[in-house]
Amino acid sequence: MFERLKRLNPFRESLQKTRETVFARVTNLFTQQVIDDALWEELEELLIRSDVGVDITMDIVQALQVRVVQDRLTQARELEAALRLELLKLLGGPNTEGLRQHPPMTSIMVVGVNGVGKTTSIAKLTRYLQEQGSSVIIAAGDTFRAAAVEQLSIWGERLNVQVIKQTSSADPGAVVYDALQAGLARGIDYVIIDTAGRLHTKFNLMEELKKVQRVARKVDETSVHEILLVLDATSGQNALEQTRVFGEAVGVTGVILTKLDGTAKGGVAFAIRKRLNVPIKFVGTGEKVTDFAPFDAEQFIDALFNNA
Ligand code: GDP
Repeated sequence: MFERLKRLNPFRESLQKTRETVFARVTNLFTQQVIDDALWEELEELLIRSDVGVDITMDIVQALQVRVVQDRLTQARELEAALRLELLKLLGGPNTEGLRQHPPMTSIMVVGVNGVGKTTSIAKLTRYLQEQGSSVIIAAGDTFRAAAVEQLSIWGERLNVQVIKQTSSADPGAVVYDALQAGLARGIDYVIIDTAGRLHTKFNLMEELKKVQRVARKVDETSVHEILLVLDATSGQNALEQTRVFGEAVGVTGVILTKLDGTAKGGVAFAIRKRLNVPIKFVGTGEKVTDFAPFDAEQFIDALFNNA
């Protein structure tokens, strides 16, 4: 039964903390009879606590207040549907954007600072694509971290995919070039490129990522097709700063939001979506390779409010 529920809504379990700490209280608030200033204040406080962000919270509350007047709402319990609608708008509506497809071979560059769950997310994404019937090659482009290359090699063996690597401190561009060539030659559907998460300066890191893109274009001038930024949901405002830096430097096309299970601040998803203006494409919901789900805005919001 439990497994079935989890399959039905993959976010329910991982949003438990956010739901219990914030949204269950919002629902309780809405069982009040009257809509008054105290209700608005408490709603603001709760939304801010979930890391939705102050600006967005103000926008949401204002939109709800407008709706109260326009739709002549008098009962607080009528507000939940209105709030869900506003949250859905923030996530860009119900349409869920999957991965970009670029047959015969799609290249995906995965970026993000060390520790956010980049390596694990690459393994999860690989497994997800395999489950869809696609073939994958991984390019171990984080040549600065021997541990990352090793970790990817272990995942490669477990998932039975080829990991293209060179000796540590090799040129990441060369690894990426080799991987894309190998992918094309073997008729592979997806090449997933790991990248460095820390260099001596932010400038160096961004230059390195741009270089990887330039090298990839030498093999296929339309690549890379997708640049996924991995963000740790537990890092709150820090994650927002990362979206800004990476967004400006490399043109992120989607987000993988990790560690949603470890935080009560799942509201950060709304702030990220608004700030970066690119879709969240996948969510990491635990440490296992199967704890991974394509983002679905309606399911996400439903899991925030619904326990059952
Ligand atoms: P990297 O340095 O960005 O490559 O990070 P790793 O992939 O090595 O992950 C860092 C830690 O975060 C590891 O202990 C992972 O098991 C853990 N991790 C990654 N994704 C998730 C997730 O979605 N949920 C939880 N709870 N832990 C995660």
